[in-house]
Amino acid sequence: MPSEDATRRTLAWFRDDLRIDDHRALHAAIDRGGVGFAAVFFATRGQWSRQHWGDNRVAMVEGGVRELREALAARGGDLHVFEVDDAELPSVLRRLVDHWSIDEVHANREFGRYEDERDHAVRTALESSTGRLVLHEDETILPVREIRSGAGTPYTVFTPFKKTWLKRLAATDAEPRSCPTVHQGLPAPPDLGTAVDPVSWRNEAVSTPLFPAGEDEPRRRLAAFMSSGLEDYEAKRDLPAVDGTSTLSPWLACGSISPRRILRALRDRLGEDPASWSTGPSVWLSELVWREFYRHVMDGIPRLSMDRPLHGWTDGVAWRDAPADLAAWTEGRTGIALVDAGMRQLAATGWMHNRVRMVVATFLTKHLLIDWRRGERFFMSSLVDGDFCSNNGGWQWAASTGTDAAPYFRVFNPDTQRVRFDAASAYVERWAPEHLGTTPPSPMVDLKAARVQAIDAFKAAKERAAPAT
Ligand code: FAD
Repeated sequence: MPSEDATRRTLAWFRDDLRIDDHRALHAAIDRGGVGFAAVFFATRGQWSRQHWGDNRVAMVEGGVRELREALAARGGDLHVFEVDDAELPSVLRRLVDHWSIDEVHANREFGRYEDERDHAVRTALESSTGRLVLHEDETILPVREIRSGAGTPYTVFTPFKKTWLKRLAATDAEPRSCPTVHQGLPAPPDLGTAVDPVSWRNEAVSTPLFPAGEDEPRRRLAAFMSSGLEDYEAKRDLPAVDGTSTLSPWLACGSISPRRILRALRDRLGEDPASWSTGPSVWLSELVWREFYRHVMDGIPRLSMDRPLHGWTDGVAWRDAPADLAAWTEGRTGIALVDAGMRQLAATGWMHNRVRMVVATFLTKHLLIDWRRGERFFMSSLVDGDFCSNNGGWQWAASTGTDAAPYFRVFNPDTQRVRFDAASAYVERWAPEHLGTTPPSPMVDLKAARVQAIDAFKAAKERAAPAT
């Protein structure tokens, strides 16, 4: 029920959470009722480019904001969109708060140092105003910041994290909520000179037809995956030529579907307790928990959002500065079939299958011995589902620098991976067919020699970092 307090005016501030369904900050702001509600979104293109977002990712935001504006309007609310320099964001928000006499600004907390600093600056800017910033834990099924090991520290290994996560799930309210109706909107905002209509932030006219923005498509995909992919997930999830995964990542990344909504769909079908689920759904839930784990780690270990590895000694690896090799990798010209196919899938669609992400990342960081941060940035600038925490986690895993990392001496062989996971060559045929011709391209490196070189480089870095005995 909306509050009867007629003096209350609330503002919902959307960030990377472009939905009206099960949105804790939005619903809290609407629930407060009173004499007015409005919602804002700030396009901060400078920040996006510093965080290496490419046009595919920006397209999801652009479309998501348009859809959000319509969805909110259908509930009686206005979404005001501004384009601002992120350094100006606190003062712009302050002007809006003053103009509307807002007393609470509601937003969902995000993970990462930049995001924490931005929210701190906003709090400070609002100190002498009528309003205050109220943050909600919304991005994950459980409040993963609160999950701690017995020693009170954040987990850095997935399995014990997941065990604790499952225990807490039984005792936590993870129910999704539908969006309430707005009872009282606020008048037009002041002229800040930065209002945007229509929204348009891409540099190039890229389109992501495979990933239409908004809340309808992920709901549809979730339903389709639940009825035809879930039970076979374990058997098919590693086969890149097969539609064996949900492909929900682009909408999870920009917040157009709530992870709690996904959990509710699983529970409705399989029962409340995950311990009673069959293998396919259990393995799929684990993937959602990996998403939560990487956020937990990012929050608990701040150096991870400062371009640093979890294992400091790996900063001593003598990475190669090899721009031509990096370019061959980014363009899918390595001469290694599965790597080339994966990089072409990425270029053509903005998305890449998880198994192939692991293979191309291992190839870059081990066989080419190129710094994982270069691959991390390139992925971010190309992916439609670019997600700072999952991307960083995936790259540090492949490079043996992070949590649960593959030990540096176990190096995936991309040709063996191809035989295991693309035995009929259907994936390679689709994305890099020249590898199946009579004169396939030559590999840019000898895989065996490159593997030995990588292991030696990691070993040397570890020995250099080891305390003298
Ligand atoms: P499904 O298999 O259907 O899984 C459901 C959801 O669980 C996914 O949508 C995703 O949100 C989550 N999930 C699945 N696998 C992982 C994982 N390994 N780590 C974290 N979450 C996971 N995922 C991103 O969303 N954004 C990224 O920028 C990203 N970069 C990656 C970089 C590398 C080097 C690697 C190895 C993995 C990366 N991943 C990233 C994780 C994973 O590849 C994708 O989440 C997955 O391929 C998305 O496909 P899906 O939606 O069909 O997943």
